[in-house]
Amino acid sequence: MSLFTDDIITFKSVLRLAYNFLAGREYLKKKKFKERKKLVAVALPFSDLVFAASAIPVFPIRMEKFKIHTYLSALGSASNLFGWNLTSKLLSFARQLDVLKILDNVLDDVIHTINDKYNELYELGIEHGVSNDFCYGITNLTGMFLSKGKNVDANINYSIRCSAWNKYSESLNYIIPNSKHIWVDIPPRNISNSLELLEENIKKAISDLEDLTGNLITDNSLKKQFRIGNQVKRIYKSIIRDSCIDDFYPCNPATFAEILVLLGFSFQDYNSNAQRYLENISQLSNEIKERKKKGIGMDVSNMPKILITPMFGGWEPKTHEILYKLGARTIYADWKIFKLLEEIHVSNSSDPIEDYAKFLMNITKEGIGYDQNSLTDNYMKSAKELNVDGIIFNQVYGCHSIANCYTLLKNKIRRKLEIPTTVINFNKIGENIEQTRTRLEAFMELFLYK
Ligand code: SF4
Repeated sequence: MSLFTDDIITFKSVLRLAYNFLAGREYLKKKKFKERKKLVAVALPFSDLVFAASAIPVFPIRMEKFKIHTYLSALGSASNLFGWNLTSKLLSFARQLDVLKILDNVLDDVIHTINDKYNELYELGIEHGVSNDFCYGITNLTGMFLSKGKNVDANINYSIRCSAWNKYSESLNYIIPNSKHIWVDIPPRNISNSLELLEENIKKAISDLEDLTGNLITDNSLKKQFRIGNQVKRIYKSIIRDSCIDDFYPCNPATFAEILVLLGFSFQDYNSNAQRYLENISQLSNEIKERKKKGIGMDVSNMPKILITPMFGGWEPKTHEILYKLGARTIYADWKIFKLLEEIHVSNSSDPIEDYAKFLMNITKEGIGYDQNSLTDNYMKSAKELNVDGIIFNQVYGCHSIANCYTLLKNKIRRKLEIPTTVINFNKIGENIEQTRTRLEAFMELFLYK
């Protein structure tokens, strides 16, 4: 258990996001067997086409059975009867009377539960023979498909400019041979007609999804989904931005970092329900504002803002806890940095396929496309926008794409931003914690003697 407990129990939106993430297995079973919906696996936040087809996107770890914290499971079962508002009030009251005998460590427990599962699935990937040359993210994704991949009807792959990623995506043909494999190939950006090619590839993926589901994907269904996604992205960005501007947080900064982790995990498939996710994230934004207005939370004005990135390919979750104890607040903003929070243009007369293609092209040009120069420029731009005081680069073992950016990034930061930076190495959750702590202690000393 973490040393920081917090007032999360009254933070309904966070509990709901956490519950919907962890209780995915039951929700997905209902969708598949009762409502006869098709489940489509997604990794990285690419669920729009799947929603537009009225299918259910699923980030595969959510098919696992998780150990759910007493408070959350009580909330989950009782909320069917009383609704979330009344149930959370009742449970907060019960907690005050010590009926449930629980500490307010719900969110911390959720993050640890998810990370334990990540490690378990990583081990499964290793047992299956995934080469040590692959990064943590790819190995545990392989484990996720080995464990529960048989439940998905299809898998949608977006080729990104990381050869290891594309190799892993192809390996899924053998791991889940009975599922349909749908590809959105994003052509190299230096081909003159890359946008037209991408539009054709999107049309092909749409037609595959239509075959799978028997549903037509119309311009309207695409635009409807893009509008929902745009609202989610707008709120997500404002939550990150406000946490960088504000000197008063709605909870302690380590807990806030965990909220950002939860958003990062759940954004990949919107917890399989886009409308519900939009409602939860807007409630989260409102609750943050309300708590601040009422003075619930913590003054963080004297705590430097430290951006840790990238973390989506695997990172040590203890880092924000260590940084908190060293007097810093942690910002996680991968999806913003990698351009996945950019909105997709929508208007009455727009062509949604063309606009989606432009969105994907922009991601590969400046975000997840791994052109080192553009990516490091993008890191610099995000660090400036977020006005962070320092950057910690998370170098993932086995990554031959993003991990190689650090030297270039360090030089650019030194020349243009003049803020402290350091690198930490990551292989697997729980490994190297002491080494990471030593590195972070040395890093934080730079702020003491500034
Ligand atoms: S870029 Fe690196 S971390 Fe991301 S999938 Fe490729 S190898 Fe893994």
